Amino acid sequence: MAVCIRRSTLFRLCRRCRSPFVGSLSSQICRSYAQVAVAGLPSFVKVVEVGPRDGLQNEKTIVPAETKIEFINKLSSTGLSVIEVTSFVSPKWVPQMGDHMEVMKGIEKNPNTTYTVLTPNLKGFQGALQTGADEVAIFGAASETFSKKNINCSIAESLKRFEAVTQAAKEANIPVRGYVSCVLGCPYEGDIQPEKVAEVSKSLIDLGCYEISLGDTIGVGTPGAMRRLISTVLNYVPKERLAVHCHDTYGQALANIFAALQMGVSVVDSSVSGLGGCPYARGASGNVSTEDVVYLLHGLAIKTGIDLPKLVAAGQFISNAIGRPTGSRVNQAMSSCA
Ligand SMILES: [Zn+2]
Repeated sequence: MAVCIRRSTLFRLCRRCRSPFVGSLSSQICRSYAQVAVAGLPSFVKVVEVGPRDGLQNEKTIVPAETKIEFINKLSSTGLSVIEVTSFVSPKWVPQMGDHMEVMKGIEKNPNTTYTVLTPNLKGFQGALQTGADEVAIFGAASETFSKKNINCSIAESLKRFEAVTQAAKEANIPVRGYVSCVLGCPYEGDIQPEKVAEVSKSLIDLGCYEISLGDTIGVGTPGAMRRLISTVLNYVPKERLAVHCHDTYGQALANIFAALQMGVSVVDSSVSGLGGCPYARGASGNVSTEDVVYLLHGLAIKTGIDLPKLVAAGQFISNAIGRPTGSRVNQAMSSCA
């Protein structure tokens, strides 16, 4: 268990972590925070858990399918709205996701969770459809050089390629999510103009995407840049259809997410235990961790439907499986008082 089960009858403090209890002592659960609402923020945030795909894809350790299945089943029991399970890409390019069929077929689905997968082409989409994916995702970049180096084609060509996927998805009635990468900076081009991000986002909406996830792929953004970006993109995409996907390379992810919430964004991507890395900044941390995001949201009295102690347990499970400590500060704090 990742929660305190011991209590002090004298001081109303948890004996292990010295945090005060909120509410009745008989609950025997350590809660070290009080929830305080801030005006103007959304009342519910949809958290999109990308750990099993974006996270594990960028970890050095290859995780066996059965461990991934157990991990995803644990995530499913936490109340997460969306889990990005895997990627239907050729194992030649991404060996870590080569078990996509087995994983998709092996997981126990929670009826309240949406299971989404990445589908870079029609073949991938058909595979995803066979395994019962609820939703698929496609991706474009806001940087020409990143697009050329990453997927070997221009932004316009990449969008053209996705037409077959969005068309097939429309016929099968499967929602498509669009990612835009490098929205706040590119490892090759440096600064990226918000207008360029807005243009690519609009193209993905025109292709049929119902939601656009703005990815700070290298984690260089700061809250002012995030505000400027979102205010530009909002000229083309309504706030209800925007998500943010922040990497924590420079420790700015939570601040950037808070800035996005203030702008009306209510969908946040994150990765349990901060799984993943950044191939363009050696030694840097990867995605913002879901535990930290959920702690922030709950502290702001924003509902997520997520059980934080269960999430911490899922984070511990996968950290043990890949043999590295959790990258989540909240997970460290909550696990140390178990
Ligand atoms: Zn990411």
